Amino acid sequence: MMKKLTFLLFLSGICCVIISFNTHPKQKSVLRTIIIDPGHGGFDPGTTGLFSQEKNVALAISLKLGKAIQEEFPDMKIVFTRTTDIMPGNMPTKSAGLHYRAELANKSRGDLFICIHANNDGHTPGTYALHRVIGHKTVGKGKRRKRIPIYETYYVKNTRIGTGSYIWKADRNQFKGTAINQREEAGEGDLADSSNAQADSEAFDRTSPEAKIRAQLYEKKFFANSALFATLVESEFVKAGRHSDGVLQRDEGIQVLQATGMPSVLIETGFLSNKEEEEYLNSEDGQNEIVRNIVDALKRYKETLEGHTGAEPSSFQPVTTPATAGMSRNANSAKQPVARLASPRK
Ligand SMILES: [Zn+2]
Repeated sequence: MMKKLTFLLFLSGICCVIISFNTHPKQKSVLRTIIIDPGHGGFDPGTTGLFSQEKNVALAISLKLGKAIQEEFPDMKIVFTRTTDIMPGNMPTKSAGLHYRAELANKSRGDLFICIHANNDGHTPGTYALHRVIGHKTVGKGKRRKRIPIYETYYVKNTRIGTGSYIWKADRNQFKGTAINQREEAGEGDLADSSNAQADSEAFDRTSPEAKIRAQLYEKKFFANSALFATLVESEFVKAGRHSDGVLQRDEGIQVLQATGMPSVLIETGFLSNKEEEEYLNSEDGQNEIVRNIVDALKRYKETLEGHTGAEPSSFQPVTTPATAGMSRNANSAKQPVARLASPRK
């Protein structure tokens, strides 16, 4: 019985190979549909710089990115979650908007989900006020006498700059598993490579042990590929002379990455809170350079996947950061190699 079953499997495997040779003389591309998600939109401006809003910067870069990918890879299909200044799907809340983004990505059978955002460091854009103690004075009389500090206000330039690519946290994989299963249930049998074609054609029961194992395998693959693409994007930014915070993981604010059944990366393209970087992010040259960097990364990503699908960047070790942006950091560290990806930041 077992022998017969093995033989049948073997036979159907050969059939699959023959069919795929007949219908696809060329190798089937692993990147057919790219979802581009400009962050925020409509009533949600995102972060604000001295003169610009994140939603507009993200949209401008995203539209340019879609056009550039189309020119570079005419066979790829581009799906935008929005192309105008609206909350995607004209949804009334941010969370409904996130849901819409993820659902559109899954329905469109995306092979890669790219979110475009701009960052802030938590301080007022441009320059912000700080206070420091420059001495003490004594006030009050008798028992009420006390020494109080004398403060001086001084102004600090907002120096934090740079890019960062976020991927979802591995411990949130439960979400991803659900997204993957939902996509499967929508009748999509092509999530896997051809080696899994047999399993894909079987009736899908998401509660079965097989379904769970398969979802886990996809999660691993999607996580590895997200990390790979994020690493390539950051390395292109570094080549262009940008400061890079590397590949990062974050707890909050990236639910959309967990809800998509595909590799997904959120790219923070720079800090609107820094005057110079805000100007760069709003300039034609700056936007074109960012787009060029992402397209170059996509090219390398595609080559890697097609060369040896599922390749994992061996040195990758994600960095975990809290959701809230931290203190202003030294801006002089531009052109730092992405090698720091391997050593987690404190
Ligand atoms: Zn944002």
